[in-house]
Amino acid sequence: VIEFRDVEKCFGSNVVLKDLNFTVERGERVTLIGPSGSGKTTILRLVMTLEELTDGYIFIDGEPLTHEQRAGRRVPVSKKRQKQLRTRIGMVFQQFNLFPNMTVLENIIEAPIHVLGRPKAEAIAKAHDLLEQVGLSDKADAHPTSLSGGQQQRVAIARALAMDPEILLLDEVTSALDPEVVGEVLNILRRVAETTNVTMLIVTHEMGFARDVSHKVMMFDGGHVVESGPPEKIFTDPDHERTQAFLGAVL
Ligand code: ATP
Repeated sequence: VIEFRDVEKCFGSNVVLKDLNFTVERGERVTLIGPSGSGKTTILRLVMTLEELTDGYIFIDGEPLTHEQRAGRRVPVSKKRQKQLRTRIGMVFQQFNLFPNMTVLENIIEAPIHVLGRPKAEAIAKAHDLLEQVGLSDKADAHPTSLSGGQQQRVAIARALAMDPEILLLDEVTSALDPEVVGEVLNILRRVAETTNVTMLIVTHEMGFARDVSHKVMMFDGGHVVESGPPEKIFTDPDHERTQAFLGAVL
């Protein structure tokens, strides 16, 4: 459902990703691990089209997300097409990124109504459902700033799910949280993983969570995939020295 083909991403002269090729299958949950600065967050931001690709291609369900080959040339896809594809992708950020001037409910119904064109009553009903799932039924009319970090992140998860995304991108979603609320946020995501078939691409430092929910773990370093495999293999018996060193330092 997601394919990276010969992807290159530079920030100025800093080559962050080079010759990157991998695919994520439908329903698969893949966790990216690796040292700080290895480009993991950049990969998620490229899928969300929050960063521009320097070279190469990204495909969503076989459709080019940013560029396509036409008559042997690499040409950008239309903004309209890109926007359509992006509606199938949800992202939860480290810093929640809720709209501060809207209530919790308004945050959740905004995109379903304005991007997908859903009827307001339907969007509200679904939002209440989702708030119940994340344990915040009583916070629909609250403003994000009155909520704790853990609560804000649960709203952000509900907001992403309100779009019925095919693909959910999770970018270090617990890194900004107090340790005592990390567990509740991860449990909600575990439940999402168990009860839906949503494809997940995850960047996290929570190795226990990665081990529980991932079908595949990909170890990055220097803009490359060092190795990838099922969590049982990567976490207990990695082939590569760099993976061993990284896990030795974080586990
Ligand atoms: P971390 O675990 O610390 O978040 P990461 O593996 O997610 O690291 P990225 O955040 O993807 O790494 O960053 C990869 C590299 O790209 C870093 O060297 C970073 O400084 C650089 N970088 C990321 N975003 C930008 C930007 N907007 N402008 C310039 N450089 C950037």
